[in-house]
Formats: sequence, C-alpha cells, structure tokens
Amino acid sequence: MQGTLRQHLLSALHDLTPPVCPDAEMDDTPRLDACADENEYASRVVEVGMQLALRRRMEARRKEVEEALSRMDIGVYGVCEECGDDIGAARLFASPTARLCVHCQSDRESCHERARLLRCA
Ligand SMILES: [Zn+2]
Repeated sequence: MQGTLRQHLLSALHDLTPPVCPDAEMDDTPRLDACADENEYASRVVEVGMQLALRRRMEARRKEVEEALSRMDIGVYGVCEECGDDIGAARLFASPTARLCVHCQSDRESCHERARLLRCA
C-alpha cells in the first residue's frame, strides 16, 4: 500500500515544484515608473500578490508532502501523531499527507472551532 502512496506523493511533489528558478523571482516587485499608469501599477500589485499567495500555498503543500515522505522513510507514516493508531488506508488514499486519524482530526477541528468561537465572543 505504501508503495502506491509513495508514488502519489512523489508525483504530487513533482507537480508542486515550481519550474522557475528562485533567482528569477527576486525582482517581481512592481515599479510605478515601469508601468503606463497607476491603474496598471495597481493591477500589477494585485497580480504579484496573487502569485505570491499561490506560491506560498504551493510551498506549504510541498512541505507537507516532503514531511509525509520522510515519515515514510522512518517508518511512522500512516500512524496518528495524536493517539498512535493507524490512520487507515482509505483516509491516506484520500489525503496522503494526513498526520492524524479521522477521530483526532475531528477532535482538533472542533477544538479549533471552540477556540475561534470563544475568541469572537
Ligand atoms: Zn488519532
């Protein structure tokens, strides 16, 4: 089972690796004097912000996949970090980077939800 999941993770990792070299990303800050007018500048700023958010999301996702692969390497993949139970094949196939079993995950989510509600109250 882990062989198949490893393939899933490796292809996910491949998809999440940006094809651009990091140096090319250094100078993507829009410059007002390089734009025709303030409207163009504003839309460049939005565009760059969206690309940045997308890239951050991809990086976070890639980190999850890398961590899942290293858990596989040390033999703790598929074990809930909270209770030590098996996460279960069905859940892992649906979500190969899962670190918690379905029970602990829903506990944690309801805990977060409670905390959020308390903060807002
Ligand atoms: Zn658990």
